[in-house]
Amino acid sequence: MSDIIHLLPDSVANQIAAGEVIQRPASVLKELIENAIDAGATAIHILVRQAGKTLIQVSDNGRGMSETDARMAFERHTTSKIRDASDLFVLNTLGFRGEALASIAAVAQVEMHTRREEDDLGTLIEIAASRVFRQEIVQCAKGTTFQVKNLFFNVPARRRFLKSDNAERNHLLQEFFRIALAYPQIEFEYYDDQTLVYQLASTNTKCRIEAIFGKSQKKKWEQQLLTVEVNSTLVTVRGFAGKPEFAQRTANQYFFVNKRYMRHPYFHRAVMMAYDRLLQPNENPNYFIYFELSPETIDVNIHPAKTEIKFENESAIFSILSAAVKQTLGKFHVAPSLDFNMEGAPDFQARQSKDFDNIRPPVVQFNPAYNPFNTANTYKRDSSEWEKLYRNLGNSEKPDEKIDFADSNFDPDVLQHFEKDSDTDFFQLKSRFIAVPTKSGLLIVEQHRAHIRILFDKIMAQLTENKPFSQQVMFPEEICFDAADLLFFADLLPELEKAGFVFTKTGDNTFIINGIPSVMNTCSAEKLLHKIIDDSKNTQQNSVSSMHEIIALSLAETAAIRAGQTLAPAEMKDLVQRLFECKENVYSPEGKRVIEILGFAEIEKRFE
Ligand code: ADP
Ligand code: MG
Repeated sequence: MSDIIHLLPDSVANQIAAGEVIQRPASVLKELIENAIDAGATAIHILVRQAGKTLIQVSDNGRGMSETDARMAFERHTTSKIRDASDLFVLNTLGFRGEALASIAAVAQVEMHTRREEDDLGTLIEIAASRVFRQEIVQCAKGTTFQVKNLFFNVPARRRFLKSDNAERNHLLQEFFRIALAYPQIEFEYYDDQTLVYQLASTNTKCRIEAIFGKSQKKKWEQQLLTVEVNSTLVTVRGFAGKPEFAQRTANQYFFVNKRYMRHPYFHRAVMMAYDRLLQPNENPNYFIYFELSPETIDVNIHPAKTEIKFENESAIFSILSAAVKQTLGKFHVAPSLDFNMEGAPDFQARQSKDFDNIRPPVVQFNPAYNPFNTANTYKRDSSEWEKLYRNLGNSEKPDEKIDFADSNFDPDVLQHFEKDSDTDFFQLKSRFIAVPTKSGLLIVEQHRAHIRILFDKIMAQLTENKPFSQQVMFPEEICFDAADLLFFADLLPELEKAGFVFTKTGDNTFIINGIPSVMNTCSAEKLLHKIIDDSKNTQQNSVSSMHEIIALSLAETAAIRAGQTLAPAEMKDLVQRLFECKENVYSPEGKRVIEILGFAEIEKRFE
């Protein structure tokens, strides 16, 4: 038998490597901008078409390439940035692997124009699926322009894997922000088709942050950024922390290390520790933190497409960071001063004491089968008898249907508790739970979740039937969106209208909210809409039904009666009855427990 191992052709190897580096249009954009920055560009112009699926173009005024380098650049493992392994440890360029261009050229049609300052003429190269089609001497501007067309044209499986245009546009923008925030002195222009989405002049970090995020809410951004700065031998930390009152559900939180964006869940905790007790539940502060430290003490070489970075002195930096943010918040009188004085920088050490070991983490109960995207029967009802018993209880459509008690140990009389007129059997515990004695035990309902379930089902029905119930607003609020949010809003708009929202467009990214769903009470519609957009950003799905779920859940959450609200017996009865009319009533739409029953067997056991 002949040998069976053979070397893969370059084009195949490149395509495989591309799978690692190039996942979506945003990955191409990132690599091209990073190359432009490494080439010393001071101005970078970006144009994308159809969310980058048909074109991503990046032009720079950097140093350009010679004719030979232009050709070499597309080979795998060709780079001008490192020469040997030791260079890896003192990296000061964004790229170094030399595989981005080879990967892009393996899965797209690429055209590149490039010219160095010292050359009269430049080079044009056309390459697709790793094959060079054209190389010519041409006249062109100093610098380099890449046009990457029809990404994944030769890898249909990857093309299908891409998300909706708006979701991909959002990825592109997020990637763009990460770089534009790290290089405020570089000028950027970002066109989406004909629209100039961002024009960013060369500036300082603070103004760059405001230029990007303050586009629609300028005042809000000017007021909120507090300076963080600390210099130590280990690390320099500078940047901005947002005032707690500007915290939002999905905040803009950025870490950069030596001008490279990174994710760092551990350092995130350090920042959040500094905000301890200054935030409402589910609110997150904006922050932009820039670390500068010796490149030898970090390792960026973990994975080409990953943004995690390893630090040598992680726990020391954690302490420095947390203390620095805390000090900033204290200095600007954001944190209560008493709190600050008593719990300044050394706080983290106290938590690392021996006692820490004795603290047991809370046990979080969740439903492992929970899938927020399945509407129907998300939960397999667990088949405990009492649930079967209650299944048709209060089902107004079929009042006469007999419940089959054959497989139940419960006394059918239990039902009569609900049917008799007396309200006295409903009582409230801690203004949060409704307790109802039944023949088989004590039924306990969490009032807020129960109401969420009821409203959620009702709103979902309205959305699918497209029968909006709207109420006019007395004092209409204005709502503004930044570029990324506007994309999501455009997708959500028809569904929001089905829910009962009425909008009037007053500017490119400004709307007046004239009508709101009739279930809504006093809450701010603007805040709610931003939350809905945040939620839709965070979901993996783009389907209409997932949008419905997000809208219905947000509305239900704001409109539902709260824990802590005292209820009259008649209200409790009404709530419990309506809960039993819901198809699913054991869990709330978020997967939290709504009903429990404390059976008599259990109660009796406790008295043994
Ligand atoms: P890396 O950035 O890791 O070196 P790439 O595949 O991204 O690898 O690029 C290969 C090489 O092509 C770079 O090292 C650089 O010399 C050259 N190059 C790429 N883009 C540009 C550009 N915009 N301007 C000048 N040179 C570039
Ligand atoms: Mg590169």
